[in-house]
Amino acid sequence: MSVTGLCQICERQEAEHSCPNCGTLACEEHWDEATGLCAQCAATVERGGREGTVRPDDVDDDDVMRF
Ligand SMILES: [Zn+2]
Ligand SMILES: [Zn+2]
Repeated sequence: MSVTGLCQICERQEAEHSCPNCGTLACEEHWDEATGLCAQCAATVERGGREGTVRPDDVDDDDVMRF
């Protein structure tokens, strides 16, 4: 995926990725390859212990996986 602009986390390096969860542009340093999310979302996922099921703007804590 190619994106144009600066990383919206550090605002210093060129963004290489666009987060599918929150839309934030992230540079290599602020991109989490394991989750495929920006560093912010990756941190949230790691805290919740679930991968790939974060829903934007709706982080109620039910344990039901919705697809
Ligand atoms: Zn950055
Ligand atoms: Zn994100």
